[in-house]
Amino acid sequence: MRAAVKLLPKTPHRVLHGHPWVFANEVESVEGTYSPGDIVEVRSARGDFLGLGYINPRSAILVRILSREDREIDRGFFRDRLEQAIELRRSAFGTRDLRDSEAGFRLVFSEADFLPGLIVDMFAGYVSFQTLTLGIDRWKDCLVENLRELLSPKGIYERNDAPIRELEGLGQQAGYIGQAFDPLVEMDEYGVRVLVDIQKGQKTGYFLDQGENRLELRRFVTGKEVLDAFSYSGGFGLSAARGGARKVVCVDQSQAALDLARASAERNGFSEKFVWRCANAFDVLREYERDGASFDVVVLDPPAFARSRRTVEKALAGYKEINLRAMKVLRDGGFLCTSSCSQHVLPEEFDAMLLDAARDAGKSLRVLEKRGQRADHPVLAGVPETEYLKCRICQVQAVS
Ligand code: SAH
Repeated sequence: MRAAVKLLPKTPHRVLHGHPWVFANEVESVEGTYSPGDIVEVRSARGDFLGLGYINPRSAILVRILSREDREIDRGFFRDRLEQAIELRRSAFGTRDLRDSEAGFRLVFSEADFLPGLIVDMFAGYVSFQTLTLGIDRWKDCLVENLRELLSPKGIYERNDAPIRELEGLGQQAGYIGQAFDPLVEMDEYGVRVLVDIQKGQKTGYFLDQGENRLELRRFVTGKEVLDAFSYSGGFGLSAARGGARKVVCVDQSQAALDLARASAERNGFSEKFVWRCANAFDVLREYERDGASFDVVVLDPPAFARSRRTVEKALAGYKEINLRAMKVLRDGGFLCTSSCSQHVLPEEFDAMLLDAARDAGKSLRVLEKRGQRADHPVLAGVPETEYLKCRICQVQAVS
């Protein structure tokens, strides 16, 4: 018998509108017994069936809903879910054969693919995945078997060395599932050879969400000098080089990231164009401003500055500082490609911050493109947490 989680009579509950989270303080009672990670029923205050999900009393999110249908949660259920997720990528990228594609795809994006807690990326046929919650971690073997059947990946790597797992009472671990392979995978991103370190890279190894934004940037860089701040393994900088940029300066505080970027640049024959700076990007921007250095294009793609709604104000101050300095080091009429991946910073807050920075810098700002995450990171309407990436391509000019 499954335990039943009965919601408090608060209406309308977000769960009724397709949101998969039930917080502990929204629950009237739990009937029946369960162990952490078990599948439970979620019912309204009146007792109506709302869905099935997994429960973890250690987490503030008590239940994450897996299914709105009353059905068995078993191997077949996960196979259906994974199949649906994979099919969406086939459609979105016009590629039937994802395994033999040289490209990279996010195959499963957690809540947005109705598989909360699960992230699966594929890089040139190799899978790198994370099971970030107890309720999904339990199904790891079943998920791996299904992925094997559906895709026959060239290799599978578990990147569960994610601190967020501790909140769920899970330990951190990483390693090959099955056969070991060379974890330095070379993939293609819109005509750029990109090295992905599945074993030691950040998160699953590479940030696929910015893929199309990197491609878009190419239109603005021919013959230009580009600053790629917070470059990680060089995603934007390499794309700029492919787009004909004359010179690219990559700044990141991680030497490992820059080493990877440098190796990728070599594979593309771009080495001559690059300058590598292992440093704090805040300091570098300040230095460029002080020394009067200038660029035609500046890319800013920092890590999430806000980890919760409470820290948004501080985060916005950080975003403003780097954007203001970027605007000051841009040549007149130059382009700023600026991003925030903090889910807690709302798009309107990000845009207001940019305007504020432009005013303080005494510049006029024209927003040419308002972009977000690529289609393999879908936004589930009604679940704002799935919409996190903001990317703006702007032109910065003297006020005239
Ligand atoms: N633009 C990258 C992704 C950036 S992720 C891409 O297209 O793939 C954020 C990066 O910022 C990480 O590589 C991290 O090492 C770096 N970082 C974080 N804080 C930094 C700081 N203060 N100065 C420089 N780099 C920083």
